[in-house]
Amino acid sequence: MKDTAEAVIIGGGIMGCSILYNMAVRGLTDSVLLERDSLGSGSTGKSQAICRMHYSNPVTARMAWESMKVYRDFEEVVGGPAGYVRTGYLVIAGAEDRAAMEANVAMQVEQGINTSVVTSEDVAEVAPMLDVSDAAGLAYEPESGYADPYSITTTYSTRAREMGCSVLTATAVTGVEVSHGRVVAVRTAGDRIETSMAVVAAGPWSRGLLSGVGVEAPLSTVRHQMIIIRRPQGVLDTHPAFGDLVQEFSSRPDATDITLVGVGEEDADLDTYNQGVDLSMVEDVFAKLERRVPAIAGGFFQGGWSGLFTITPDWHPILDRVEGIDGLYCAVGFSGHGFKLSPMVGAAMAELILEGAARTIDITPLRLSRFAEGDLLSSRYRYNVLA
Ligand SMILES: Cc1cc2nc3c(=O)[nH]c(=O)nc-3n(C[C@H](O)[C@H](O)[C@H](O)COP(=O)(O)OP(=O)(O)OC[C@H]3O[C@@H](n4cnc5c(N)ncnc54)[C@H](O)[C@@H]3O)c2cc1C
Repeated sequence: MKDTAEAVIIGGGIMGCSILYNMAVRGLTDSVLLERDSLGSGSTGKSQAICRMHYSNPVTARMAWESMKVYRDFEEVVGGPAGYVRTGYLVIAGAEDRAAMEANVAMQVEQGINTSVVTSEDVAEVAPMLDVSDAAGLAYEPESGYADPYSITTTYSTRAREMGCSVLTATAVTGVEVSHGRVVAVRTAGDRIETSMAVVAAGPWSRGLLSGVGVEAPLSTVRHQMIIIRRPQGVLDTHPAFGDLVQEFSSRPDATDITLVGVGEEDADLDTYNQGVDLSMVEDVFAKLERRVPAIAGGFFQGGWSGLFTITPDWHPILDRVEGIDGLYCAVGFSGHGFKLSPMVGAAMAELILEGAARTIDITPLRLSRFAEGDLLSSRYRYNVLA
């Protein structure tokens, strides 16, 4: 292991790897990424990986839009597979969310996003397999879809290594060393890397690393379940991804005849949570899905998994330098919607770290101090997963 580096990144999820890559592209290659397990083994590898632009705030809507373009052209732009599949994405709102949905779409259109409010007749044309008869409002994004978190994460890491960066897996960071208000080193169980810059991108485990240097970030963890349904063969080739505000779940198709359903938000301990699915929930989920996609009746439950959302009080991330500790940065708290943002997170963090401020996108709304200042971002929906 190197014993000095200009920068150390803690965490080899999609965010750590994107930041490493984006710093390398901008010239900083004397850097080391430390991952305690394997790349993508945290929330990233468990993501439903839907890329939708439907947000309540311009900052995240724009980040999603610009990031989707990178995923779409990933081979050309970064140099590896992203597995981007364009399925279209539909927001299905009940009466209580209709006005909010329309306001969101108006804001997104102002940001240049390809989205619109649609009617049930429009849905019958683009997605005749969906039953939206109970919806009071509908919005459709034709360019949205899903991608492959593992491919994206490892592509970022491979390209960064080719440029000279180091990536070490199975190497857990035990602490960041601070002296006289400055980062001086990052410690692992057996080693110490001298550095003046450390980036905490350790997903659910970030809170502990930050509190180790006296920074209390408002992060907590909730468990989200992913249920795999196998569609009856030959009945339905695919369907769009969708966010169902009426029944509070999200869904997208996957490889051959598979539909994924994301559901549930319950407090969870980050090291002992149940990584499987609750069988007691499956019947209810199946009923909800069947109501929305009737042709799925006759399909079957094929298993599933659970992962962690690292949430903040407003369900939006913290992208910032840490006040009071020179050289310490954090990219944390991505809740259930960080996957789609990783290209812009990497670009913005690299600019913040190397140039003093993010210029690709203004990330001031995502500063850490917003919680103390009471200047939280607000979502127009009660269903936080679609923050
Ligand atoms: C079930 C589920 C569904 C989701 N669906 C979507 C979706 O449809 N669309 C979307 O945009 N987002 C979705 N998300 C959210 C998205 O996956 C996350 O926001 C994103 O993956 C966060 O990436 P990360 O790099 O911050 O964290 P992580 O992927 O958790 O990476 C952090 C890494 O840090 C490592 N680490 C921890 N502690 C240490 C240490 N001490 N030393 C070294 N390494 C350490 C961990 O092992 C881990 O690999 C979903 C998440 C889940 C769980």
